[in-house]
Amino acid sequence: MSNFIPFTRPNFNQETIDAVAEVLRSGWVTSGPKLAEFESVLSTYFGGRPVRCFANGTATMKIALQVAGIGAGDEVITTPISWVATSNVVLSVGAKPVFVDIDPVTRNIDLHQVAAAITSKTRAIMPVYLAGLPVDMDQLYSIAKQNNLRVIEDAAQAFGSQWKGKKIGSFGDLVSFSFQANKNLTTVEGGCLVLNTEVEAKLAEKFRLQGLTRQGMDGMDVDVLGGKDNLTDVNAVIGLQQLKQLPAYQARRTFLAHQYFDAIRTELKSAGLENLKLELPVENFTDSNWHMFQVLLPLEQLNCDRGQVMTELKDLGIGTGVHYPAITGFTLYKNQGYKTSDTPIADRIGRSILTLPLFPGMADEDIGRVASGLVGILKKHCKN
Ligand SMILES: *Cc1c(COP(=O)(O)O)cnc(C)c1O
Repeated sequence: MSNFIPFTRPNFNQETIDAVAEVLRSGWVTSGPKLAEFESVLSTYFGGRPVRCFANGTATMKIALQVAGIGAGDEVITTPISWVATSNVVLSVGAKPVFVDIDPVTRNIDLHQVAAAITSKTRAIMPVYLAGLPVDMDQLYSIAKQNNLRVIEDAAQAFGSQWKGKKIGSFGDLVSFSFQANKNLTTVEGGCLVLNTEVEAKLAEKFRLQGLTRQGMDGMDVDVLGGKDNLTDVNAVIGLQQLKQLPAYQARRTFLAHQYFDAIRTELKSAGLENLKLELPVENFTDSNWHMFQVLLPLEQLNCDRGQVMTELKDLGIGTGVHYPAITGFTLYKNQGYKTSDTPIADRIGRSILTLPLFPGMADEDIGRVASGLVGILKKHCKN
């Protein structure tokens, strides 16, 4: 269909395409000078903290766990509403994810419930900043400090978000970002980890490349089990270009997100649907990077399910997404004894959450088209 609005779309300008071509012609295409430059620019961006890049966000988080020494027998507290990578990496290092329910307003882990989940085996808290909205960072780090826990921030969606004027990643413990194609800053695939010390950064480098240590020109040894998780110069040069465009992207996302609040409320009002419990995201937090704009459908007031709403939106040329169903409902997790009923708010939100289109290249008038399309479909399916 022409004029289809996808839920997201990356943006690469001519300068980026030229920069990639230059790397390809240079003869050095895998990890090299552009990666070193990207890591150094990112380190400056994060206030001088050490930064290392990896092949994707999943590898970044796994290596964060390895750097923290988390493995068999350890427990990591996290949220059931995330991309499944968050808990998969915990399983992949042999540790156990412990799911805590979410806050219905922020849709992030409910920090008030974390204390009750801490056991003698708990080693870390792994919060996720869904749609780029951080948790209460003061509360997070005070819980971690009181209980002597590491924090591995899954900030995959939060590049450019801030807390009290400080960039996410510029403070805290281990902070992991993803540069996957849908993220606010992309290298096509990629990720970066912000660490505390150069010693930790060197350890991360080792895990990134087969556990290799080098001493001198021909001294080679392997002393830990590492993978093959390096980021290439082709990806790094895309990241360098994206960083230049980030402020403009951010301004555009923020503008469009605020247009959504107005447009949806106006449409609900003119449709006489003021009593419809369509829940919008947190509006008054100014430091979100607006990675996504997600509504909660009032399924109990509708005579159809989310899939039907998505199908009808698609028929109107509007793409949507589900980010995310509760991880505890997946077969792998159910087979390990996890139950969606243990985290009822996550269960409800996982079934009703809907991601509307939001990306810098969206036209102003697309917002009105999405809002009226959505409200029209909801009106049609309203029970009374
Ligand atoms: C994207 C994402 C990841 C994983 O990143 P990849 O680069 O796709 O491996 C992890 N957690 C969250 C919350 C994400 O959104």
